[in-house]
Amino acid sequence: MATTEILEQLIKDPDKLKNLVDEVKDLAFLYGIVFRTHETPNSSEVVTYAPFTLFPSPFPKAAFLQALALQTHFNTLVNKISQDPDFLEEALAGTVQADDFTAKLFDIYRKVQQEGRTQSIVVGLNRSDYMVDQREDGTVSLKQIEINTISAGGFGVSDRLSVVHRHVLKSVGLLEESRSVPDNNRTPGMCAALAKAWELYGERRAVILFLVEDIELSKLSHRYIEKELWKRNIPVIRRKFDEVSRNGSLNADKRLFIWDARLLMERSRAVKCPDISTHLAGTKKVQQVLARPGVLEKFFPDQLQVVEQIRATFAGLYTLDLGPEGDKTLTMALTAPERFVLKPQREGGGNNIYGSEICQVLQGVKDSTARMAYILMDKINPTPVQNYLLSRGTPLKITNCLSELGVFGAYVRQGKEMVMNECVGHLLKTKSSEHSDGGIQAGVSFLDNPLLV
Ligand code: ADP
Ligand code: MG
Repeated sequence: MATTEILEQLIKDPDKLKNLVDEVKDLAFLYGIVFRTHETPNSSEVVTYAPFTLFPSPFPKAAFLQALALQTHFNTLVNKISQDPDFLEEALAGTVQADDFTAKLFDIYRKVQQEGRTQSIVVGLNRSDYMVDQREDGTVSLKQIEINTISAGGFGVSDRLSVVHRHVLKSVGLLEESRSVPDNNRTPGMCAALAKAWELYGERRAVILFLVEDIELSKLSHRYIEKELWKRNIPVIRRKFDEVSRNGSLNADKRLFIWDARLLMERSRAVKCPDISTHLAGTKKVQQVLARPGVLEKFFPDQLQVVEQIRATFAGLYTLDLGPEGDKTLTMALTAPERFVLKPQREGGGNNIYGSEICQVLQGVKDSTARMAYILMDKINPTPVQNYLLSRGTPLKITNCLSELGVFGAYVRQGKEMVMNECVGHLLKTKSSEHSDGGIQAGVSFLDNPLLV
C-alpha cells in the first residue's frame, strides 16, 4: 500500500517526519480540533490539539458500508428494548443482584415505571462500535464491540479531522488516496435530533440542558454542539449534577447527588437523552442477552433479513449467571482466557479485564452471585497497522495500531412513533496494539479516519 511506502520513507527521514507532523498539528489547530489538557481540564485558557493519528487508517470499504447500513436498525432495536419492561426485567435480573451500579439505575427505572411516565418524547443519540476481525482463513468480518446509548461521545471538535487527513495525504503525494477518506459531518446530524425533540416539545422558552461532570475535558466539543443549537435559536444551558439536585440536602456525598439528579430528571416532563430505559438498553448484559438464539427475532418479527444483518456482527457473548450455562462459560474462560474479554457493567474505557487477570477475577467470584455482574465476550482480533500517534508531549514513535469504527445514530420517538431515525456519521478510533482497552478520554485511543480500501 502507498501509505506503507510513505511510512517507510518517513521512518528513515526524521526531519521530513517532523516537518509533516508540525504541519499537521498546525492544521488541527486551524480546524479547531482542540482539546483541554489533562493537567488543566477546567481552564478556558489552555488547549492543545486533540490526540489523533498522523495518517488515516486503512479500513475495508465493504465493512464500513455494512456498519453504516446497520445503524438505523440498531436505533430501532434500542428503541424497542427501551419500551419492553418484561425484557429489561428478565435480562437484568441477575445483574441487578450482583452489581450495585446497575441496581441503582434499575431502581430509578422501576420508580418511574410505577409512577407512570410524564413525557412521551425520547431522543436517542447512540454510537455503535465495531472492530474488523481477522479470521484465520484470511477473511475479515465486522464485529460489534458494544453500543453506547449514553454519553456517546466522539463528535464535535473532531468533525473536520477528515479534512486534515486528506490534506496530509495530499502533502505526501497521495492525491488519489485522499479521495478515499469519507466525509464527516456528524455533529449537525446529532443536533438535528435534539432540535426535533425541542420542536415537538412545543415551548419556545424551553431550553436544552447539558448535564456535565466536574471535570470538563470535553467542554469544547459540548460548545460545538451548543453552537449548532444556538444557530437554530434553541437556548442551551449547562449544569452539573449537584446543581440539578440542589434541592436535595444530601451534600455529604457527591454520588448521592448523581442518583438524586437522575431520579429528579427522569420524573420530570423534560425530554430525556437518553431516558433511563434507553440507558439500560445499552448495558453490556443486554448486549449479551440479545445474542441468545431467538431474541432478535422477538424484536424484529417478520424481518428475518434485519435479524441476520444484525446477528452477523455479533461476536460470541456468554452469560455468567448462576446455573449450568454460566458454569460452562466459566470453564471456557478459565481454560483459554486469552480468547476472551471479561466485562463488568461499566462505560468509558479501562474497566474490562483481559488475559490472565480474567482467571484471577473469576476465581474470586466463581461460586457467588458476584459473577453475575460480568459477561464474557470473544476477543476480536483486528490486523495491526503502522501509524504515528500524535498527542501533546508524547515522543514520535512508529506504532502498531488497532482501529475501532464508531457509527453514530440519532432518533426521536414520540409516543410509539419514530419521527426521526438516521445514521449521521462515523468515527475511527485508533490505539497502540499494546493496549487491550480503549478510550479517547482515558488517553489510550486517538481520533482517526478510515481510509477506505
Ligand atoms: P467501554 O464501555 O468501557 O467503552 P467497551 O466494551 O467498548 O467498553 O470496551 C472498551 C475497549 O476495549 C474497546 O474500545 C476495545 O478497544 C476493547 N474491547 C472491548 N471488547 C473487545 C473485544 N471483544 N475484543 C477486542 N477488544 C475489545
Ligand atoms: Mg466502548
